Formats: sequence, C-alpha cells, structure tokens
Amino acid sequence: MRKDVRILLVGEPKVGKTSLIMSLVSEEFPEVVPYRAEEITIPADVTPERVPTHIVDYSEAEQTDEQLYQEISKANVICIVYSVNNKKSIEKVTSHWIPLINERTDKDSRIPLILVGNKSDLVEHSSMETVLTIMNKYSEIETCVECSAKSLKNISELFYYAQKAVLHPTGPLYCPDQKEMRLACVRALTRIFKVSDLDNDGILNDYELTFFQGTCFNTPLAPQALEDVKNVVRKNLSDGVRNNGLTLKGFLFLHTLFIERGRHETTWAVLRRFGYDDNLELHQDFLFPPLKIPPDCTTELNHNTYLFLQSVFDKHDMDRDCALSPEELLDLFDVFPYVPWGLDVNNTVCTNDQGWITYQGYLSQWTLTTFLDVQRCLEYLGYLGYSIIAEQESQTSAITVTRDKKIDLQKKQTQRNVFCCNVFGGIGSGKSSFLLGFLGRNLMCQRAIREEHKSYYAISTAHVYGQEKYLLLHEVFPDFDFLSETDLACDVVCLIYDVSNPCSFEYCAQIFKQYFMDSKIPCMLIAAKSDLPETKQQYCMTPLEFCRKHKMPPPQSFTCNTAAAPSKDIFIKLTTMAMYPHARLRCMCTCNRCTFCLCQNFLNSELVQTVRTKLYTVIFSRHITHADLKSSTFWLRASIGATMCAVLGFAMYRALLRSR
Ligand code: GDP
Ligand code: MG
Repeated sequence: MRKDVRILLVGEPKVGKTSLIMSLVSEEFPEVVPYRAEEITIPADVTPERVPTHIVDYSEAEQTDEQLYQEISKANVICIVYSVNNKKSIEKVTSHWIPLINERTDKDSRIPLILVGNKSDLVEHSSMETVLTIMNKYSEIETCVECSAKSLKNISELFYYAQKAVLHPTGPLYCPDQKEMRLACVRALTRIFKVSDLDNDGILNDYELTFFQGTCFNTPLAPQALEDVKNVVRKNLSDGVRNNGLTLKGFLFLHTLFIERGRHETTWAVLRRFGYDDNLELHQDFLFPPLKIPPDCTTELNHNTYLFLQSVFDKHDMDRDCALSPEELLDLFDVFPYVPWGLDVNNTVCTNDQGWITYQGYLSQWTLTTFLDVQRCLEYLGYLGYSIIAEQESQTSAITVTRDKKIDLQKKQTQRNVFCCNVFGGIGSGKSSFLLGFLGRNLMCQRAIREEHKSYYAISTAHVYGQEKYLLLHEVFPDFDFLSETDLACDVVCLIYDVSNPCSFEYCAQIFKQYFMDSKIPCMLIAAKSDLPETKQQYCMTPLEFCRKHKMPPPQSFTCNTAAAPSKDIFIKLTTMAMYPHARLRCMCTCNRCTFCLCQNFLNSELVQTVRTKLYTVIFSRHITHADLKSSTFWLRASIGATMCAVLGFAMYRALLRSR
C-alpha cells in the first residue's frame, strides 16, 4: 500500500479551487479566501482510505509556471476545476489544462485526472453532457464530479474520489476505449478464481464463495447477499451461474460490473489480498517474505504445509489414481506464471508405472525444493495461494527452520526429517543408477530414460525405527578441482566404486582422504554393480582393509540389475547413519547372521511392527469408546504408550551398539 497521496487542484482563476479546500477543512463556505490556500495534510485516520493525504492549491497570481510544473510532477492525482456557470473555464480544460499536464508526464504513467465542476449551486442544469464527451476522449480522466463549495455538496466525495484514483486506479484494470477488462486483470482474476476453486470443478460454490468473501473482505456474506450476487449474474449472462455456483465467466463479469460502476476498489481489494501490486504483478514481498536461515540449519515443510500440499494434490488428481498425469500436472501449475517442474523431476522422485509423479513423489519434490532452495519454495507456495487458503499470516509459516546441526550432534538427537547424502564416485561407477535405484527403478527401467531428462538428485522416504524420514541423494560431479562447499556439506557421504572396474576404487579413496577423513560426516563405501564378477582393485589395500583402517562400515554391495525394484536396505542404513552420525556403526553388513543384522531385522520385523500397532490400537480403542477424548489423561496415556514403543526400540539399539 502507498505511504501517502498528494492531490493538486488546478484550473482557471476564480473557479473556486481555494474555496473548495477551505470548505473541506472548515465544513463551511468561507466568504473571503486568499489567492492560494496553504498546503494541508489530512492525517491517515480521518481519511476514508486511511492514508495521509496532502492537498495542494494553485494560484496563477501567486505562482510561476515553473512552480506549477514542479507541483504537477509531484502530484499523484490532479483535480482540474472549472465553474459550471463559466463556459470558458470548461473549454480551458481541454484546450489548456489536459495538454499542459500530459506534456509533463510519460504516456505510460499518466497521472489520473478528475474533472471538478464547481458552483453547482448557481445553475439549474448540469454540465455532465459536455464533460462526458471529454471523459470519453481522455482515458486518464478517472471520474468527474459536480460540487459546490458554497452548499458543501459533494465536497468530501470529491476528495474521496481523488484519493481512490490514486489508491485504486482503474487504468490497470480496465480499458475505457474497448470497454472491457484488460488482459492482465483477466489473467490475475482467473488465477484467483482457480486458487479459490477448492475442489477444482470450475465453479465457486456457496462454501467457496463464503470463504473467498471472508478472506478478501473480512466480513461474512449474508445468505441473501450471496443469492443477490448470483441473481445479478444470472440476469445478465447465460452461463455465469452453473449448479448454483459462479463460473469463471460469471466471476469475471461481476468484476467488470464493479469496475464499470466505479466500485473498482472491490476488485482491487481482491487483487491485493492475493498479492498483486499496482502493475498487477505478484508483489515481491508476497512471493519472497524475509526468512532468516542461520548457518548449519536446514529448511523443511511443516505438518500443516504438507496438509495444504496434499489438498492441492487431491484437487488436481481428478481420476483419483494417486498420481498426476501430465495434464493434471499442467492444470496444477496453471496458477504459476511458468511450469516449474521439468521432466527431470520425474527422475528425481517416485513415479507410477506410467512414469507419472505419485503422491509420495509429489511431496518428495516439494521437500527437495524446500531443502535446497527455500526461496523458490516460498515463491511456489505463493503461486498456490498458500497463505490465503491455509489462512496463515505469511508464506514463511510454511517453513520449519531446523536447529543448528552442531546442537543435534551435541545432544545426539535430531528432530529433522530430511537428510542429505552426497554421492561420490568416478565416471561410470554407477552413481546415477544408485540414485534411480532409490526410486525403485531397476536397470531395465533406467535404460528407458533419455539423457536430457536425467537428474542429479533423487529423493524418497526411508523408514528408520518406525519413523518416516526423507533421504535426499545428490550425485556430485566427479571433478576433483570443482568441489564446492555445497558438494561437501551433507549429512552422510556415499563413496561408490564399480566392482568390475579395477581402477574405480582409487577415486573413492582419494576423495575420502582429501575431504572426509577428518570430518565428522559419516561415510559409507558402496560396492556397486555387485551382480558383475568382482575384480581386484588397483590400490595399495583392498576396499575392506581401507574401511577397517578408517573405521568405516565394510563396503556395501549394491546392484540395480534386479528383476524387481532394487533393495531399499542400503538407503535405510544411510538414513540411519545420517540421523545418528555419532553412533559409529562398525557393522553395516546385510549378512543376516551377525547380532547386528539379527537385531536390525528384528526391529524392522513385522512382529515388532504388529505389536507396536496393536499397542496403539489397544490404547486408542479402549479410550475412544470408554473415555472422553478431550480428557487429558487419555492423551497422556496414549503418548506414554507411544513413548514406550520408541524407548524400547532405542534401548535395544543402544544395547547392541555397546555390545559391539
Ligand atoms: P480560485 O481562484 O479558483 O481559488 O477561486 P476562489 O476560491 O478564490 O473563488 C472565487 C470566487 O468564487 C469567490 O468569490 C468565491 O466565494 C466564489 N465561489 C467559490 N466556490 C463557490 C461555490 O461553490 N458557489 C458559489 N456560488 N460561489 C463560489
Ligand atoms: Mg485561489
């Protein structure tokens, strides 16, 4: 919103400019006035639009042309005053004043003008006919008004119109020549319609209209008013109302009506609420609210944001197959100025058999954007109308900034839900396949992917001790000299070598020694392509010896040359290491014989999961049927049950670590 409004009054001498200003201020007609009134400032709280307003007089007798030009360039709106009983003063409006003002302003940023016919108390007839022809000729004229400083008729109105012309200009909304809404305005209102159409059926039903009204005007719409609005549309338009709801056509018609009736502040209120600025572009402050991310902290979406994103997904998954077809995805991004997701996203997240992004995949991609580029995430949420639909102060409430990683390390626990794993390895060692393996794609599926649609990221969920966490894999380009801060900053490191290529382990050893040997980031060696015959690596020690020497878990075999989806075990282990970096897991094998494997399997076994679910069900069913849900003891006991599960799991895990 603007900080203030500056209104300048010009016109021929003796038309009553000074009297108008004095009448406004003193609420009575001054018989004697000076040539020129002092500049006055009306404080914000007494003006209808709540902005400080300066009113500036002009007098040919007291001011030079140069001073007039200066005032013109400073003004936000100019009232050209004529006297209704003085024909010459009307003629001068077009022959002198409008050209003089327009010469001093850009064609694209014309100052709004208001034609003011003063001394209406002196005549019976109206000057409106003459003035309307002038108005039709000059689109910069916002409105015209007849008033009288003497009888105080339309004095407050005049200054209100002037204020409104600045705060709610018609120019960007409406083209008076064509008598229709401008394209940018249609576009903005169409986006607003789509965002407000919560069930995406192309109609604003009563619920959606009431919600819309509430968010834009802070007042509920009375049921009768709702019907009246629909009736107006019905009367004027054949397909403006369908199934008792407003169609896009009807919605646009309604706004055209507001504008044509001079009630464009209504349309502006809607546009502003949805983040538009005076040029009908989404405001930078709306899209990019300030959000401070201290170093060593990461960004995640909070629970409510996931719920919001879920509702957006549901709204566009028209066939309810829990995946977004290309058309459904395009429809979802219809409220964006551009399509933000390229085809590489389909190879970054989980998809269904048709290659369409699944519900899980969709949430994963949002999680990735939030983690890697929170500004972009805020921008995208802005396009979806997050703060409006989820009724939040600002977009920033969508984001959780996690605490400093150093504190997590100190306290040996974390509340984070997203962990990043950087994947290193020489060219052709199998990094990309490893990433795609995480998305459940075997070698066969991977071969179908076009080079230009490949991604350096893969994100999906992994369950660690019953908790669902996101693991974000990032393939680092294997050029030693170009490793940046971000290539090295992560929660866990994966070093991949190709068991069938004797030269590939050396790269891993070098990267480890140069960057990670002294860091606190846990590292894991992956023996990729384990379906191929293993060859001896050309290095001074074997990978296993290397791991022993550097206190790393032994190399983990991995292959994506599988009939079904590749095994997820390794990704669960990586997530576990990322969550508990302090726990030096010596054994990370999948031998299924050693104590660690047995216990790990036990923890993940169906038996434990069933017991856990049973425990929950018992607690819940007992209390839901017999006790008041609101009673605090119920929640207390339920949470004790949940805590017990978690404690049991951890105790077992810790005992295991100690024993090893
Ligand atoms: P300015 O030169 O445009 O500032 O005009 P003034 O405010 O000095 O007014 C010129 C003359 O018109 C004065 O004698 C005023 O009293 C008179 N006047 C101003 N407004 C009105 C009005 O609304 N009705 C009538 N009857 N006289 C007015
Ligand atoms: Mg004067």
